[in-house]
Amino acid sequence: METLIPIINRLQEVFLTVGADVVQLPQIVVVGSQSSGKSSVLESLVGRDFLPRGSGIVTRRPLVLQLINVAPLAQRMQAEHGNGIKQNSEDSYPGVKAEEWGTFLHCKGQVCLCEEYKRITLPSFHCVVLECNDVCLLKVFADFAEIRSEIEKETERSSGDNKGISPEPIHLKIFSPKVLNLTLVDLPGITKVPVGDQPEDIEAQVQEMIQSFISNPNSLILAVSPANSDLATSEALKLARDTDPDGRRTLLVVTKLDLMDAGTDALEVLLGRVIPVRLGIVGVVNRSQHDINTHKSLEDSLRSEQAFLQRHYPSLAARCGTRHLARTLSRLLMHHIRDCLPGLKGRVTVLSGQYQARLSGYGRPVEDHSATLLQIVTKFASDYCNTIEGTPRYIQTSELCGGARICYIFHETFGRTLQSIDPLGGLTELDILTAIRNATGPRPALFVPEVSFELLVKRQIKRLEEPSLRCVELVHEELQRIIQHCSSYSTQELLRFPKLHDSIVEVVMALLRKRLPITNEMVHHLVAIELAYINTKHPDFSDAAQVSASVNSQQAEGLDEGKCWKKDRAAEERPPPPGFGSPSKGQAINLLDTALPAPRRLTTREQRDCEVIQRLVKSYFLIVRKSIQDSVPKAVMHFLVNFVKERLQSELVGQLYKQTLLHQLLIESPDTAQQRCEVAHMLEALQKANNIISEIRETHLW
Ligand code: GDP
Ligand code: MG
Repeated sequence: METLIPIINRLQEVFLTVGADVVQLPQIVVVGSQSSGKSSVLESLVGRDFLPRGSGIVTRRPLVLQLINVAPLAQRMQAEHGNGIKQNSEDSYPGVKAEEWGTFLHCKGQVCLCEEYKRITLPSFHCVVLECNDVCLLKVFADFAEIRSEIEKETERSSGDNKGISPEPIHLKIFSPKVLNLTLVDLPGITKVPVGDQPEDIEAQVQEMIQSFISNPNSLILAVSPANSDLATSEALKLARDTDPDGRRTLLVVTKLDLMDAGTDALEVLLGRVIPVRLGIVGVVNRSQHDINTHKSLEDSLRSEQAFLQRHYPSLAARCGTRHLARTLSRLLMHHIRDCLPGLKGRVTVLSGQYQARLSGYGRPVEDHSATLLQIVTKFASDYCNTIEGTPRYIQTSELCGGARICYIFHETFGRTLQSIDPLGGLTELDILTAIRNATGPRPALFVPEVSFELLVKRQIKRLEEPSLRCVELVHEELQRIIQHCSSYSTQELLRFPKLHDSIVEVVMALLRKRLPITNEMVHHLVAIELAYINTKHPDFSDAAQVSASVNSQQAEGLDEGKCWKKDRAAEERPPPPGFGSPSKGQAINLLDTALPAPRRLTTREQRDCEVIQRLVKSYFLIVRKSIQDSVPKAVMHFLVNFVKERLQSELVGQLYKQTLLHQLLIESPDTAQQRCEVAHMLEALQKANNIISEIRETHLW
């Protein structure tokens, strides 16, 4: 059954190498109030002195301790000599000539394996460098006193030397033939009152730190409570209950059995009659401070623990003690691992899928440069055209883009602007009258002169030019935006080659720039064409023309009758109101007095003339506006959009497909190269993890 744990440890190592706590692996977390004996329990589980212990706050950072069972040194040496120096593998640790040793994740050597391998496996060791999953080299601590001082040093490094605490864990691995495979976490004890540099909220901080470890559903909680204080006051049990109310992963360890008041014993507690604990209650006797000071060995301590238990709790001796605790833990851990496996496998599978997708996103390293360039350029060109046509692979949902936006510009932006132009805007009756007068020259007019109509309608038509040019500009801008859209969404390959990306953008921009003046000119021509000939015989204009003719003929009749003429004359003979025409000579005008020029009342004839002209201008203007609204989008499509669509690919190939440029353009961005490498490594690790999980499921459990 214990074969399960090295596999899990391998899994954990796989993930450590890729630098992520991707998978939550089962671990045993020690929780208890300060000085309840947590570190002592851990130490006797490991069977070596290496943890700082004592009264007061000693453990001030979480310590993640991975115990790894290794073959005894003699056996390992034999294997090494038998096969010569071989690659580091699971159960041989070449170069380490110690029976037991430890490594810290934070103490990395700078030498990498492979070529350096021989050098580091030379027998110059004790604190030399060695392995960590064939990738990095960790400093070997063969002396456990040194491990203790390294823990102390590392604790001080991040939490100061005056009782401060830090949530950043220290990772320590202990390799020994004497340990069972377990991952343990030593935590600072629960305290109530801040001392030294500790913050006011030390209690909350420590509780939060403990919580962060035990709330992991993959943690087994080892609640440590001393026998010489009432179990009902145990902070450890309280915390464990809060996080694990069903008690599915809490084990109670009762320490200091030897320190109980004379006349009392822990039998009731150990039998679970005081507080039942589902997974069990194990009583232990650790070394006292005196034992530590006198360097009592752990072996002696285990022996005296056994003797103590035999003496005081003969019926429970087999179910108590450090050895039993280690076995229980190992068993619990394995059950736990087994329960976690399906979820773990699912997670690895999901991650593999994600990384696989990312890897294929990065593409393969370039082999055939010209083929790759052609392929990317062609893809970009077709993506560009597709975005205009409305058939891109990547469809935006947040805003209009490409062809849809061009359509919007034509029919909404441009169309509405044209519609909003008032056919008679900027044309007052006064302007019209002046135009009529100017058109007739020195002779008073009999009919409404056509020249004035032409003059005025041209003036209105000219107003269509500006919005038309603006329409070209908007479409041009949109075509520029499509470049960005394609290069960042559709043609993902471009992200790999920043130079090619820039060059493509440049070529397309230049093409667009070249087409802009040509299109503008065309639009300009369209308006000029309308101005060139005012076609009063336009079929849609006939009604208006008839109206004008009838008005003119009425005027002619009026002349004959004399009546109308008289009436008009009478109106005309009225003195002109101030503010119109030139002021009569000799009459001094006080400009300050005439506050606002009162509008002149038009004579009936003037009114009628005005109306006729207005009606004609409006009618003709609407015809032209309709035609411009129709022809400008056509011109833009023909001269700009379609032209670019058709020429894009040949232009890109012509400008970029040059032998001298190929290599330069296809230089991968360093980011992509590196990311691909990282993702590939991660995938490899995931694959390995997957194999390990399958292996466990097939051979060990089912
Ligand atoms: P922690 O703060 O919970 O990690 O507690 P430590 O492991 O540092 O122990 C605190 C003190 O209690 C040390 O001086 C230990 O020697 C002592 N101690 C722990 N367990 C026992 C035990 O079972 N019996 C005796 N006599 N002393 C113990
Ligand atoms: Mg401690």
